[in-house]
Amino acid sequence: MASRKAAAAGQGNGLRLEVVPSLRSGLESLCVHPGREGEREALLLVLPGAFALTPCTLSLLFWVWEGRWRVIPYDVLPDWLKDNDYLLHGHRPPMPSFRACFKSIFRIHTETGNIWTHLLGFVLFLCLGILTMLRPNMYFMAPLQEKVVFGMFFLGAVLCLSFSWLFHTVYCHSEKVSRTFSKLDYSGIALLIMGSFVPWLYYSFYCSPQPRLIYLSIVCVLGISAIIVAQWDRFATPKHRQTRAGVFLGLGLSGVVPTMHFTIAEGFVKATTVGQMGWFFLMAVMYITGAGLYAARIPERFFPGKFDIWFQSHQIFHVLVVAAAFVHFYGVSNLQEFRYGLEGGCTDDSLL
Ligand SMILES: [Zn+2]
Repeated sequence: MASRKAAAAGQGNGLRLEVVPSLRSGLESLCVHPGREGEREALLLVLPGAFALTPCTLSLLFWVWEGRWRVIPYDVLPDWLKDNDYLLHGHRPPMPSFRACFKSIFRIHTETGNIWTHLLGFVLFLCLGILTMLRPNMYFMAPLQEKVVFGMFFLGAVLCLSFSWLFHTVYCHSEKVSRTFSKLDYSGIALLIMGSFVPWLYYSFYCSPQPRLIYLSIVCVLGISAIIVAQWDRFATPKHRQTRAGVFLGLGLSGVVPTMHFTIAEGFVKATTVGQMGWFFLMAVMYITGAGLYAARIPERFFPGKFDIWFQSHQIFHVLVVAAAFVHFYGVSNLQEFRYGLEGGCTDDSLL
């Protein structure tokens, strides 16, 4: 009777029979449990059309509904969930229910750290963005324009971080959902990089609208190209880990050209003081370190199985992304204050 009730509740949660193919490829490979006879019988009675499933799969399906799933080792994961073979244990099983995926945010497994690092980062940037937008207009030279410029940065950061925590949450749902959200996740990184360029170029080239427009157009074209590349199905596969790190590193490093331009025109001292290049350099080091650790899967490659839950490369990369975005925000805020101090004046000996 209890089983019948639970199964009915599961149907109410939106778990439908179209999940059957993904269950076959996923859950059946996990059939290590002997299956619970009583529940199997009850499920067969209340799930019309589910007879094609093996008793063992039905048993696992039941466990997912009830939130009674257990973490599983890497070897038994279906191929589409196999990403990092240095994380030996603590993986979520395939769970074709969004409710179960979202509930897993509060459980300990290989994705817990990845979810929370960007969920908290998302809340941080959402608050910072709202505070910036609510700042009195007297602190800006051209309030509307400057708020739009900062808004682009916050939009990029908030979209990147929310796509990321959502992807890590529903990654174990099914192959199709995982693939769709991974594309959003990668597109989010490109949006964050593009959004970061906007206020930096706006204030650094405040008195040179032409190079500012050229650099902005270039980063938009490169960013949109990265988003298009990220729609390629194979982009998300473990084989292309280095390609991914390379695409986003290349997009970020396109900032080297305007940096050189600014430094040559204004000199090293002005670039590092009023130009805030020290902060932007720190930001770049953080992103590059994060991308490097991500691509090389350090530290888990040296100690397989020791970083399954905490301090794996992906989590370090996530923390560095949030820290780098914060450093970037600090740098552009200083640039904004400097321009405000000059009252937006562009004289012959002013910066650019
Ligand atoms: Zn991630």
